Amino acid sequence: MTEQLRPDGSLRHLLTLDGLPREKLEQLLERAQQFVTPLGARPPASRTLAGFTVANLFTEPSTRTRVSFELAAKRLGAQVVNLEVQLSSRVKGESMLDTVYTLESLHVDAFVIRDAEAGVAGLVAAHVAPHVSVLSAGEAHLSHPTQGLLDALTVRQRKGRFAGLAIAIVGDIRHSRVARSAWHAFRTLGVGDLRIVAPPALMPDAAEFAGCARHTQLAPGLRRADVVMMLRIQKERFGSADLPDGEQYFAAWGLTPERLALANPEAIVMHPQPMNRGVEIASAVADGPQSAIRDQVRNGVAVRMAVLEEVLTSTRIA
Ligand code: ASP
Repeated sequence: MTEQLRPDGSLRHLLTLDGLPREKLEQLLERAQQFVTPLGARPPASRTLAGFTVANLFTEPSTRTRVSFELAAKRLGAQVVNLEVQLSSRVKGESMLDTVYTLESLHVDAFVIRDAEAGVAGLVAAHVAPHVSVLSAGEAHLSHPTQGLLDALTVRQRKGRFAGLAIAIVGDIRHSRVARSAWHAFRTLGVGDLRIVAPPALMPDAAEFAGCARHTQLAPGLRRADVVMMLRIQKERFGSADLPDGEQYFAAWGLTPERLALANPEAIVMHPQPMNRGVEIASAVADGPQSAIRDQVRNGVAVRMAVLEEVLTSTRIA
């Protein structure tokens, strides 16, 4: 796999949180926190990345991730180009790498890549020039590293610690890159009681999610949790498997205020969005006092600013 850190320990690429040292995650969270401002206050802006160009290459739909990568780059003074797959030369048969080489010649310094296929961002990272960085914005069902960081930042803000917390990740774990990156982040940051909670058909294979307790029923999975992270059913990744019916799923697995009462009274509720209200979560919970869902969105920009700043300004090969 492509090395993500430079020899001096600075981050060059961000493809997965798996294997990144705890100090690196803590340093990125610390920096991201400095970019968080209350709503209504003017967001931070600087010229730190003036002269740099960031290209967003998204071949799967995205709202929050694409917009927040763009805002993050612009708020640090970088230029941004957005390539939708329909408009790119990829559909004309030119390979992703040729597209990347073209953009490199146009002085793109960082590629932000989302693809439904595994390995695309890694392949690009293995071929770009030494001064160029690649950041994953979501890879198949495997990883979504900036989402993992923004989830960790949200927990850190609301709980002030990771040790001693009980975190329940609930829903379609099997197809979720959000769950995998959250697991990588929370395990590295020292969360001891990490639970995955899902019906058997949506549980990942036994070899995955080492160290997590597995619950195939909602109530025991929620009991005394400090953080409840709900997931969307990833319809687009089901292949031939049976999609659960929305109403039946809500009846057995939807997070309602009554079910949330099983968790710690101070528990927070998270969701990466897009949310299916009335399927995995009730509106009364999504919009209720324990919801940290809007904080997650705000933290997404801050985390992406921290990551872009680190890859583009820490020691670069001339
Ligand atoms: N937006 C997240 C992702 O890209 C979660 C989801 O789509 O359910 O994985």
